[in-house]
Amino acid sequence: MSSTSRPVRACIGLGANLGDARRQVEAALRALATTPGVQVLARSSLYRTAPVDAGGPDYVNAAAVIETDLEAHTLLRALQDIEDGFGRERPYRNAPRTLDLDLLLYGDAQFSDPVLTVPHPRLHLRAFVLHPLAELAPDLHVPGLGALTGLLPAVSEQRIERLADTP
Ligand code: ADP
Ligand code: MG
Repeated sequence: MSSTSRPVRACIGLGANLGDARRQVEAALRALATTPGVQVLARSSLYRTAPVDAGGPDYVNAAAVIETDLEAHTLLRALQDIEDGFGRERPYRNAPRTLDLDLLLYGDAQFSDPVLTVPHPRLHLRAFVLHPLAELAPDLHVPGLGALTGLLPAVSEQRIERLADTP
């Protein structure tokens, strides 16, 4: 919401399942860290996850907590610019992707318009979002949904594996 006082703490979800997905996610985290108006406070481990509502190879996912001076829509455009820089194409909904960056949370903001819904509307349905977030912020409260840990049992059937850190 434009009235949210800044800087704002926000959470970003990252995912990729084409090409060298692990490298793409690592490179996207670096791109995020060099985005003007964005400071990465913490990043999660990488996770290998089964595609949800889609086919194709397994995904590599991660999450980041940032502090940002950017208004939410400006931040979303910055995320989409990073996606485009990685050659993201959008042939159809839920198509495999070289890189997906989602704005999961933007402070305590709760709103929806034609281009942006915050918190991300499918956040609570996805183990690949909830587990990386829980690693970074186990006490997180999701506006409108409650404690993050309370959302985990509903996604316990989804396959997710934490990847060992690379040196
Ligand atoms: P998804 O991430 O759901 O698989 P896409 O990355 O293709 O799908 O995003 C589709 C559209 O979702 C984007 O054009 C964007 O306008 C919209 N959108 C709405 N809310 C959000 C959000 N919180 N984060 C990212 N995209 C969002
Ligand atoms: Mg997306």
